[in-house]
Amino acid sequence: MMTSAGKLDRDRQVARRRIDGTILDALRNLPTADVALALGIKVRGNKAMCFNGHDRQSPSFTIGKNKISWKCYGCGEYGDSIALVEKILGFDFKAACDWLCDRYGIGTPYARGKSRRVSAQKPPPIHSSASDTNSGTLGDPEIYSWLVSRCGPVTDPRGLAYLKSHGIPQSIAAAFGVVELRNTTRAYASLKSNWGADRIKKCGLSSNGRSLLWRGYCLIFPFKTDSQVTYLQIRCLEGNMKFVGPIGIEKPIYNSERLNKMPRNQPLHICEGIPDTLVLEGRGLAAIGILGANSFRREWVDVLIPFDLVGVPDGDDGGKRFRQCLTKEFHARSKSIRFVVLPDGEDACDVVSKVNDA
Ligand SMILES: [Zn+2]
Repeated sequence: MMTSAGKLDRDRQVARRRIDGTILDALRNLPTADVALALGIKVRGNKAMCFNGHDRQSPSFTIGKNKISWKCYGCGEYGDSIALVEKILGFDFKAACDWLCDRYGIGTPYARGKSRRVSAQKPPPIHSSASDTNSGTLGDPEIYSWLVSRCGPVTDPRGLAYLKSHGIPQSIAAAFGVVELRNTTRAYASLKSNWGADRIKKCGLSSNGRSLLWRGYCLIFPFKTDSQVTYLQIRCLEGNMKFVGPIGIEKPIYNSERLNKMPRNQPLHICEGIPDTLVLEGRGLAAIGILGANSFRREWVDVLIPFDLVGVPDGDDGGKRFRQCLTKEFHARSKSIRFVVLPDGEDACDVVSKVNDA
């Protein structure tokens, strides 16, 4: 990154010259916390776990006091909202500006001639209407199901190594429909020819209408409801992105179908994330996954109250927040919840994979 920094700066300068100054100012003044959230970064206060994946315990990614910049105290990267989009989505400067303009309803940055109106700095509602099944918070089951059905079971050594290191038996991965995707360029081309670039963008799998959100080999963990795929969690095993989900789509409960299959008052484990859920299910324990404390939704309390709840937070700061969140939500409804206490810095996967190694 350092070797090409000079060239990158020059490219950015050239690109900047072609962008309307007013619009560029508007983009630079976008609240970085908003932009980070739109990119799937979970910001709490002014902190987040760094997108480079080096944070294990405490967050290093920090939003500046001026609210329109960021810096990571772990890896030293820094910049404005535009730079953040470049980093996370792997875009060049121009594409990052386009993405922000699109999302925040700001005039086209590259149009020439008459001055363009810079509209509100607040993002427009991403979801036109909740009842529209092809857009909005509900995602696009048709497209997600289609994509997953065209990916194969995990056979690549990278995918198998991931499953093994997380203590997830291959049989469980197969039973939960975990698949691998080897070629994101081909996948995008095939999605586009079947569904059109617009719809792929709407369902949150692409932000630029030219490629998928992520690149390289990945595992896909489908979230299913009535045998339809309602959400996807992508685990990238190449490049510096780790987890990717459809942009702008609410994260549902992982393995929510479990709830329909079990009697009331039975122990139900609420895991922090998908791998833990699969590990416990692999051990014959009923488990669902919540993708972090920030994605817990209050309406889930009603769905979960009938069961004997056991929280399984990771042994880290995120885990502490997860535990606090669950405790608060359930105690507010006079419902008790127990917790499995994991050693510091470990999750259920770590514990189980050690047991397997022993
Ligand atoms: Zn960092």
